Amino acid sequence: RANQEESTDVTNDPLVKMFQSFRLNQEQRPLKIVRSSYQYLYDTTNSEYLDCVNSVSHVGHCHPAVVKAAAASMERDPSITGMDIDHGEMKYPDKLRQTLPHYLDTFLFCNSGSEAVDLALQLSTLHTGGTDAVVTDNAFHGSIGSVHHLSPKVFKANNMTKADWVHILAMPDLYRGQYQHGDPEAVHKYLSDARQVIESITQSGRKLACFIAEPMLVVPGMVIPSAAWLQEIYKMVREAGGLCIADEVQAGLGRVGSHFWSFQAQGVGPDILIIGKNIGNGYPMALVATSREIAAVLGDRIKEYGCSRMMDAVGCAVLEVLQEEHLMTAAMSVGKYLREQLTILQHKHDYIGDVRGLGLMVGLEVVWSKESKRPAREVAEHIIYKMKEENVILACEGYNRNILMMMPPMCFTRDNVVHLVQQLDKVLSELPRHCYPVEGSAPVFCPPVVHQSTVSEGRLGILQPQEEEDEEDQLASRENLEGPKHNYQDLD
Ligand code: PMP
Repeated sequence: RANQEESTDVTNDPLVKMFQSFRLNQEQRPLKIVRSSYQYLYDTTNSEYLDCVNSVSHVGHCHPAVVKAAAASMERDPSITGMDIDHGEMKYPDKLRQTLPHYLDTFLFCNSGSEAVDLALQLSTLHTGGTDAVVTDNAFHGSIGSVHHLSPKVFKANNMTKADWVHILAMPDLYRGQYQHGDPEAVHKYLSDARQVIESITQSGRKLACFIAEPMLVVPGMVIPSAAWLQEIYKMVREAGGLCIADEVQAGLGRVGSHFWSFQAQGVGPDILIIGKNIGNGYPMALVATSREIAAVLGDRIKEYGCSRMMDAVGCAVLEVLQEEHLMTAAMSVGKYLREQLTILQHKHDYIGDVRGLGLMVGLEVVWSKESKRPAREVAEHIIYKMKEENVILACEGYNRNILMMMPPMCFTRDNVVHLVQQLDKVLSELPRHCYPVEGSAPVFCPPVVHQSTVSEGRLGILQPQEEEDEEDQLASRENLEGPKHNYQDLD
């Protein structure tokens, strides 16, 4: 990919070197977290940090209701093998079933997302008699045994050879991919390329078992595919005899705001669902949800995947907190507010190339300049270190590791957004200004430039647009983001 090459040819730039030296400086002062509460982390000196990334603690770190349920179960419940536990009082499977389409009626419990992916792979090969799998580029579905083959992010980073039974689809990334915003045929072109990949499996005498993907491509770089793209891929996969597996480890459990599961927001019905450890708020539990018919291929082995009493207690507590604290509705409105505020920052700072996401999950592309779109990993890392000094925790992802990820616990508030955006604005304003007078030439150092014409301090100290009309138009379009089957790519 052109942008991967771009990211390697900048190492001798003085500006890049300067950012790398900041990094070394910071690495000497790693953060040591000793306790946590809701969306806050505390270090050895009891300093409080705002956690914008740990989505596993879905309803908040150490949420008292979850801790209480886990402790009570630990004190009371047996952990036994070879004897029947009385499952009569298990409530979790029924509660979970209420959130899912009726055909996903069989649950197979595991301890991690990776185990659930491994099991889904077994189910699809046994059910279809196929051998091959289709994945999206830069995907991560775990790193154990067979599962690492399904994770290009892992095998590419470690220079491992791609297994011949794995086939990779390009992400429909309209910002940085091969086909971009402005090309009305972009989604069709991605689909046409995908069709070639899927058809080539049968043409080469092999048989497809499954397509596995996050319905919202979070780990590969917060790329929100258009519903049309995912729906069409599901059709192609089924025509080729494969099953469709949706990995909800990141985007599930109400995070997209409009729906409980992100596949629902995309208008697709997966054959197998991977649900990950946010269902345990950090307690190691995960599961595969599928139909009775598909699960039947396991025969007697199905008994190995039962729900333990502790999973039952913890899983129920997480669902109850989600409901009682209205966290799904909050994710929708707080997430929307976060994207609006970041979009305002984007107008102010040339380092922000793109702001995207859905519900309470946001990705921000850091670039050397909006015009060049050149991925600025060093700047992204520098921002993360500087934000840490401001007691705000961020992380980066993506091919070029230049995408700042915001996937906070679901109890994140509007006040947290205000604080995050103000600190980010401060850090960005203090960055040295770069410019490339001619594309590809060495950077020239300039003083920081703040585009005062487009933003001003608002009443609450949060950034407000001055050009009301433009911003309103923009927010009106973003409004549509929250509905099913819509995303920013559809609107372009
Ligand atoms: N799928 C996705 C999308 C993930 O992000 C992860 C890891 N967070 C996994 C699968 C694997 O889950 P686990 O770490 O529980 O094995």
